[in-house]
Amino acid sequence: MTHAWLFTGPPGSGRSNAAKAFAAALVCNESGCGECSDCITAQVGTHPDVEIVDVSGISIKIDEIREVVSRSAWGASISKWRIVVIEDCDRMTEAAANALLKAVEEPGGQTIWLLCAPTLQDVIPTIRSRCRHLNLKTPSAAEIASFLRDSLGANQEDAELAARISQGHIGKARGYLKDPSFQAARKKSFEILFNIKSEGSAILAAAKIVELANERAELRTTERNEIESEELKAALQSGSRGLVSGGAKALKDLERDQKARLTRLIKDEIDGVLLDYATFLRDCLTGDGPSINTDLEEEISRISSTNKSGQIAEALVKLNQTRELLATNAAQLLLVESFLLHFLPLNRGN
Ligand SMILES: [Zn+2]
Repeated sequence: MTHAWLFTGPPGSGRSNAAKAFAAALVCNESGCGECSDCITAQVGTHPDVEIVDVSGISIKIDEIREVVSRSAWGASISKWRIVVIEDCDRMTEAAANALLKAVEEPGGQTIWLLCAPTLQDVIPTIRSRCRHLNLKTPSAAEIASFLRDSLGANQEDAELAARISQGHIGKARGYLKDPSFQAARKKSFEILFNIKSEGSAILAAAKIVELANERAELRTTERNEIESEELKAALQSGSRGLVSGGAKALKDLERDQKARLTRLIKDEIDGVLLDYATFLRDCLTGDGPSINTDLEEEISRISSTNKSGQIAEALVKLNQTRELLATNAAQLLLVESFLLHFLPLNRGN
């Protein structure tokens, strides 16, 4: 049995779900039936022999990894293996990665490490050279559509549209079908795009896009932040004497981490809008009717019939650059503004 595995795949390819399913298969008496309590608890991280390190947007810090490493030395309690799944290994700080390296280099007898990251390059070479690598492909639109039909009972037309506009991201495709706010947000962001008629309205539109991204990101975090803070406060409470020593610092750290997560989610939201725009421009470029946004046929034919394909291609290049810059710490509002000003002549058709 290989003691360290590395699951890679683009966002939405299901790399951490694959790792959790593998963990379940290792602790299940029937090699992963998917139904027994071992399988179910392994996948949600409550199985005594399966630990899932989930950081969702917060960089994985060295203390956390040290604790995980020291716990990994324990033997398995009810199954053959003790499994540690680390989602988003790419978010590990360098010091944390080095602490993990020691554990992966000198494996404990029963411990299996399942690491997840978007690409091999996101993991330091010394770790990846010690792991067996499994790469997940982005599923095709047809595969996603059939999954949506089977798992959600969606009808053919809705499933196909959701599969195409999600661009291979299963979570987004599901969200689009199940959560009306996804559809409303997409509709709104295209409305904003098509209403750009002047430089002034492009600037206002950029501000609106960033504002909506902030609102959506906050909506996604507020409840979770409150629960986290309440739980931590309760854990740090020492009878009637207030917080235990170090408690105030722990609360401050949590607050800082929550802010970091919000920042990342805002970026994700803006990028989601830009990705929608990218699929739209691609549809405009091909010229023979929409292949992705079938619900925007009218706008696509308007833009593609009133503009040269060279101009549309230029806007798409600009958009791709914008998305790359967004991943760095560049000013979001200025980036969105600059793309929308490039889109303006297309919308006017000159
Ligand atoms: Zn099972």
